[in-house]
Amino acid sequence: MKRPICQQCLFPVKTCLCSYVSPLNSEFNIYILQHPLESRVSKNTARLIQLCHHRTHIFVGENADDFNEVKTRLDNSIADICLVYPDKNSVVIKAPPNNLHTSLSGNASSIVEGNLKRLQVQRAPRVLLFIDATWRKAKKMYELNPWLKRFKAIRIEGGKPSYTIRKVPDDQSYSTIEAVIYAIRAFSNESTKPLVDLFFKMQEMQMKHMSSEVKERYSKRSLSS
Ligand SMILES: [Zn+2]
Repeated sequence: MKRPICQQCLFPVKTCLCSYVSPLNSEFNIYILQHPLESRVSKNTARLIQLCHHRTHIFVGENADDFNEVKTRLDNSIADICLVYPDKNSVVIKAPPNNLHTSLSGNASSIVEGNLKRLQVQRAPRVLLFIDATWRKAKKMYELNPWLKRFKAIRIEGGKPSYTIRKVPDDQSYSTIEAVIYAIRAFSNESTKPLVDLFFKMQEMQMKHMSSEVKERYSKRSLSS
């Protein structure tokens, strides 16, 4: 029997997160290119971002034809767009070195300034573009969409992945919601609290509904990492 799904947050009804959504006041426009398989998984964190932040646009697809609409939309403002993707030419951007629970400290402005300097721009990008897929599929989507190469690519360093319910290949792998949080923090002093709270609530709910066997496997993994 299929699990009932909440039509609003798209999570299973028993782990519905709608009552924990609060608005994120952010100047950034978040564009997410989402692999079709990610839109169906029960941990669709892109959808959570969209619920908090009305300037979030999700485009589901894999190859360039699927993304004609977003391509046209983004064409006009290339200078103001940053693609968060670890291409070999990507610029390393520093996320504030505190963990997600803490608020930004006073030195956040110097981190932002440093990042703008590294990117060689005067002001923060207005559009942050993300690929929401497993690493292998994200790589393939990047190959299939050569139009993405015209944007400045950045990789975010310094934040610590906090998502335990996920198989990660290395220490710098983020879920899409974490990547959005770190990118906003890297370029502004805006509060990301609504996203951070929702992200931790999601993990808490999922842990609660895991079988004890699965739970044990995850806690072992997070201890050994
Ligand atoms: Zn819901």
